[in-house]
Amino acid sequence: MEKTLSIIKPDAVSKNVIGKIVDRFESNGLRIAAMKKIQLSAADAGKFYEVHAQRPFFGELVEFMTSGPVVVMVLEGKDAVAANRALMGATDPKEAEAGTIRADFAQSIDANAVHGSDSLENAQKEIAFFFAQKEIL
Ligand code: GDP
Repeated sequence: MEKTLSIIKPDAVSKNVIGKIVDRFESNGLRIAAMKKIQLSAADAGKFYEVHAQRPFFGELVEFMTSGPVVVMVLEGKDAVAANRALMGATDPKEAEAGTIRADFAQSIDANAVHGSDSLENAQKEIAFFFAQKEIL
């Protein structure tokens, strides 16, 4: 069993599709081990995405991620990191395979509905960024 971090981004939260996205996870072998709705500050978003600090889109990314509330979740299941990435689809929704979350709910490469950890190592760091051990059940 693996754990990974998922974020439902502000575009999807404002479109009122939290439940539809959570259903994709629950219907495909992933369990919600922790979940909360929060408003990220610019400092939070900058720290979370610090690997992208030198990228030209960093400012836009922080602005977008702080534009409204997000839902952060710990997903648990077999090969959870890869399973979540497969359900999400490609970063750019125009390239995302039909039936993936990004193909169905995202508008653009920045407003792309969901985040998911890209490795087990990053999943552990990202989970610890948002959740205390006692909140993961
Ligand atoms: P992910 O792991 O599929 O989310 O993709 P990355 O780790 O490569 O990028 C992190 C996030 O940065 C993406 O989900 C997008 O929201 C954003 N991003 C990536 N590339 C671009 C870009 O070219 N322009 C903008 N505005 N945002 C981008």
